[in-house]
Amino acid sequence: MLRVGINGYGTIGKRVADAVDAQPDMEVAGVAKTRPNFEAKQARERGFDLYAAIEDRADQFGEAGVETAGLVDDLVAESDVVVDATPSGIGAQNRALYEEHDTPAIYQGGEDADVADVSFNARSNYAEAEGADHVRVVSCNTTGLSRLLAPLQEEYGVEKVRTTLVRRGGDPGQTGRGPINDILPDPISIPSHHGPDVNTIFPDLDIDTLGLKVPATLMHMHSVNVTLESEPDADEVRDVLAGQSRIMVLDKDLGIKGTGPLKEYAKDMGRPRGDLWENCLWGESVTTVGRDFYCFQAIHQESDVVPENVDAVRAITGEMDAEESVATTNDALGL
Ligand code: NAD
Repeated sequence: MLRVGINGYGTIGKRVADAVDAQPDMEVAGVAKTRPNFEAKQARERGFDLYAAIEDRADQFGEAGVETAGLVDDLVAESDVVVDATPSGIGAQNRALYEEHDTPAIYQGGEDADVADVSFNARSNYAEAEGADHVRVVSCNTTGLSRLLAPLQEEYGVEKVRTTLVRRGGDPGQTGRGPINDILPDPISIPSHHGPDVNTIFPDLDIDTLGLKVPATLMHMHSVNVTLESEPDADEVRDVLAGQSRIMVLDKDLGIKGTGPLKEYAKDMGRPRGDLWENCLWGESVTTVGRDFYCFQAIHQESDVVPENVDAVRAITGEMDAEESVATTNDALGL
């Protein structure tokens, strides 16, 4: 059994912990938190050993009646691999801790690409992470774009990608984020930084991205145009995309017209926390005009990177190849 430690138990970390716990070949070595809040209490309810991330604040856990198993240093020593899901920038600071223990680490998309030896998306470049000590799972948006672009590139060749990302202002739990009544070009400068992030996975891809932020918390929405190198029929492209294990092509008959009903669908399906681990792509939107492909896809920012973190653990250890890992992860999650 691979023992996986999770440092940073917030939006991403708590989901990764549950996903690791569900795998047949992994177990949660423990999770590290800075303070004994509701998430710390839930971690204990789920049976995970809890470690204090900051030594000076370790006493707070005992005072709040929350049992700990030690400090984050002990967790890293205990783990075969650590998933760092701390806020942007903290992962880079934690790298020295992982190096000290010679423990391979996985970072999240909020870190700069140079935190790791390789940026990772299971569908696109799994093999590049084999044997690496430091791997960065790319952001939710880059994960969503990579999953879409990999099959398009393989099947039809890609000349140019133009994508507008309409991004949620904050996650549902982030009460201080916004805007609450505006539509923000974000960043105002064009192209946005998202295209270069996709280039960490596809170095030679010609891609321009534009970003907006809106008063929503549920999901991001991508408006995608890809100029292909051939002229496929829209039905054929839709079938290729529907055949991808982490793309859910939404049938018109479902009557899902936006991210609200989509999240409702996830809850009706019994998905934990209403998570949508796959890209959600409107089948009706798949259009080709000559060599131009168009579509809308929604990305659940809180969860699409979760199966990718699980696969990154296996890629690092070389335990399985991409196909076997993705199938094992999907099967364990029910994706
Ligand atoms: P979050 O704020 O929800 O969770 C981070 C957790 O880390 C919190 O529990 C916080 O208390 C804890 N923490 C803070 N400092 C710490 C430290 N020094 N040691 C250990 N734990 C510490 O953040 P998140 O949304 O889960 O984001 C984590 C990473 O994942 C970031 O790089 C982010 O960019 C990336 N990411 C976030 C999303 C998203 O939409 N939420 C999507 C994809 C990737």
